[in-house]
Amino acid sequence: MYSRSQGFEILSDARHNKSVAFSRQERELFNLRGLLPYSSVTQDVQVKRIMDGLKRKSSDIEKYLLLSLLHDRNERLFYRVVTEYVEEVMPIIYTPTVGQACKEFSNNFKRTRGFYITPEDKGEIRKILDNWPEDYVKVIVVTDGERILGLGDLGANGMGIPIGKLELYCACAGIHPYECLPVMLDVGTNNQELLDDILYLGYPFNRIKGEEYFELVDEFVMAIQDKYPKALIQFEDFLTPNAYALLNKYKDKVLCFNDDIQGTAAVALSGVYASTRITNVAFKDLKVMFLGAGSAATGIADLMVAAYMKEGLTKKQAESQLWFVDVNGLVVESRDDLMEHNLPYAHLHPQMSFEEAIDDIQPHILIGATGVAGTFTQTVIEKMTKYNERPVIFALSNPTSKAECTAEQAYEWSNGKAIFASGSPFAPVNYKGTEYRPGQGNNAYVFPGIGLGAIISNAKNIPDELFLEAAKTLSEQVTEDDINAGALYPKLSEIRNHSLEIAIRVADAAFELKIAKGHKPHNLRKFVKDYMFDPKY
Ligand code: NAD
Repeated sequence: MYSRSQGFEILSDARHNKSVAFSRQERELFNLRGLLPYSSVTQDVQVKRIMDGLKRKSSDIEKYLLLSLLHDRNERLFYRVVTEYVEEVMPIIYTPTVGQACKEFSNNFKRTRGFYITPEDKGEIRKILDNWPEDYVKVIVVTDGERILGLGDLGANGMGIPIGKLELYCACAGIHPYECLPVMLDVGTNNQELLDDILYLGYPFNRIKGEEYFELVDEFVMAIQDKYPKALIQFEDFLTPNAYALLNKYKDKVLCFNDDIQGTAAVALSGVYASTRITNVAFKDLKVMFLGAGSAATGIADLMVAAYMKEGLTKKQAESQLWFVDVNGLVVESRDDLMEHNLPYAHLHPQMSFEEAIDDIQPHILIGATGVAGTFTQTVIEKMTKYNERPVIFALSNPTSKAECTAEQAYEWSNGKAIFASGSPFAPVNYKGTEYRPGQGNNAYVFPGIGLGAIISNAKNIPDELFLEAAKTLSEQVTEDDINAGALYPKLSEIRNHSLEIAIRVADAAFELKIAKGHKPHNLRKFVKDYMFDPKY
């Protein structure tokens, strides 16, 4: 029997609260009589009330705040809304609105959600981790806030990113909310505006760097290994050199990955696989040119090398089919300003401009990851159309305003021939009476399924093979209808099913590769399905 105070507490316990959906019997059992209005409604009616409320809000950030308060009040209703209306709600709880939410994070802070570590916690991270109330954390998303989306250093305000990504883990792959831990490694900020802002809630000093920085991250990783040895760590929105340094340090030893590098790679590779169903160019023959040579583009290239090698190419041959142009022009061997991750793609070739390089190399696919709008000009698209019956154009930069070109431009400048995909959503385009559906290379298609597969199999680490498996699986979810509309990705509304398929194949591959520590369930599909959190009451 529940005590009176326990009954009242249920209403403020987001995990168990059903609010006006508590039935008459439950109200009696939990001592809730008198605490709620008379009507006992279904969860469907509650969902409708939330969706109506969202429509009444005049800005996306207000919608974000409404949903965030709902999350604090009634977890299952929040996830029911997100899963059922994923196409409408994902751009609110994640990109692009989450960018604004991060900028305003300190101003809007109401209730804690996640864990904050600062340099003052050095030597005590493992101890304070015990303050987190959950024993079964399985997925951790961590950022240091230094490169939040395309918005730069947002310090501790970047916490909106781990929170948003973990909401997608729960909504898209059915990870249980209590298994998720958002972490902010608040090592300071070099953003003077934040340091000068009296409302800024983060560690109000410049960023620690070098050895001091890497020691703190290491202490965090070790503390997690000790308290939650089965947990997956997803690194998110670190500055590119730190992102690579951390990934290279931990990827073989710890169950972890970097979504900006590896998640992006898997989702882009999936789009590349799907594009060959339209262009009929054999995958192993594809020549790809990247505009931008940072973490996103290089991550895609590195995974493409692994994919080419699976098709029989040597590493050298694979690398020779991938070309990069960055802010200083074509990436070639003679340049002395390249970072280590660029070197495998610095070919022995004369230096030239982007447009000259398109004429010279004649790539099948152009992938933009510059963060700079307008870099795929009319001339660029026309040149791609000259060399390809169906040029494939990925304008991956986020948010929508930063895309290298718009969907409309790609269709118009290629006379309807381009196969276009972007990082942020573009609405369908009607060009000369034909409706084209731009694909969105949203990382949310892959990271939740990869994470679910990894924790189901209790994988030791996540090698390239698992990202390849995820990319292949996602590309197989693209239907003939999608292909006919020129879309390289399946509909977002079915994302839970796509995540399920990815999780099964990733887990299966982990068992095959003998990196799974758990026992393989005899019916893996059923096991994964049963594991998934269902937000229905
Ligand atoms: P980064 O800072 O590591 O790299 C940017 C690169 O672009 C650098 O190599 C720089 O030299 C180059 N560049 C800048 N201006 C240029 C110009 N005018 N011409 C040619 N090259 C130019 O950034 P990143 O992490 O690689 O992210 C790049 C973009 O990709 C961001 O906008 C990000 O939002 C987007 N992204 C998209 C997805 C996705 O769609 N799924 C995933 C991750 C990142």
